[in-house]
Amino acid sequence: MSSRAKWLFRWGFFPAVFFGALGAGVALVRGGWSPMVAVGAVTFSCALLIGGSEKVQPRFTSWAEPRRGDWKADLAHTFLSTLLPPEIIRAVSVGTLTGAAVWLSATVGASLWPHGIPLVLQLVLAMVVSEFGSYWVHRLMHEHELLWRLHSVHHSAERLYWLNAGRFHPLDTALQYVGQTFPLILLGAGPEVVALFSLWTAVHGMFQHANLDIRLGPLNWIFSMAELHRWHHSTLQTEGNTNYGANICFWDVVFGTRFLPSDREPPEEIGIGGMPGFPAGYAAHLAAPFRWSGVVEESREALPDQS
Ligand SMILES: [Zn+2]
Ligand SMILES: [Zn+2]
Repeated sequence: MSSRAKWLFRWGFFPAVFFGALGAGVALVRGGWSPMVAVGAVTFSCALLIGGSEKVQPRFTSWAEPRRGDWKADLAHTFLSTLLPPEIIRAVSVGTLTGAAVWLSATVGASLWPHGIPLVLQLVLAMVVSEFGSYWVHRLMHEHELLWRLHSVHHSAERLYWLNAGRFHPLDTALQYVGQTFPLILLGAGPEVVALFSLWTAVHGMFQHANLDIRLGPLNWIFSMAELHRWHHSTLQTEGNTNYGANICFWDVVFGTRFLPSDREPPEEIGIGGMPGFPAGYAAHLAAPFRWSGVVEESREALPDQS
């Protein structure tokens, strides 16, 4: 690739794909597509584009090679741990939540959600509201031992690539979903806003973990993208307990946890410091939080001999 093409890719790929995806989502939903099908179709197209581009312009070539069969576990996580739990929670809670939303707006005497403002502003509002919940769920997962056992599955990744976006323990996903999406439903956000919010989250999540040599420049003050998120996966706790935003870094800025040093490169060696033997494989990941002392013991045995 010529240096000019590399530069164009580095600075143009994210805005072209991300904003193109949101535009396509709006066009499809307004053209009569079901929001769920539109979100699925656009997300799948972006997965092909992002995953394919990792082969062309990776950030770290060492991240191109699978580690301990990680892609099989990550594929299972994407469907069974990340896509399925929200569907189950939605199915069992939709009646109660909708009832609570109606009761809330009746109590206040007006709709709590500003349906009349432009769609793009509703989407921005949805992000700021939902990220407050997900910021604190994510931060508590890092700061409390029992919750960390669930979240450690995500941080056990030994390399970053687009499919890490789905690598979560299902109970981690469930807690994140409640913190992130319940406030939007309770406030009465419309289905079009919720669909676009889901699309933003899906495409941003893939970019956030992608092994792509792309730069955001000043947009790193808006999006919680790969340049920030690579530090979140650092093996050092002081670097990893930062950048909690799933989509935007607004609450990291507010609460002082945004971290993007300008004097050094992001860590190429990532994962959980001191736990190189964290189990690999989907079933082992599901069990890990519930047999924690065994996981710690196995990790200790996998450490290089210090004597
Ligand atoms: Zn985390
Ligand atoms: Zn991550």
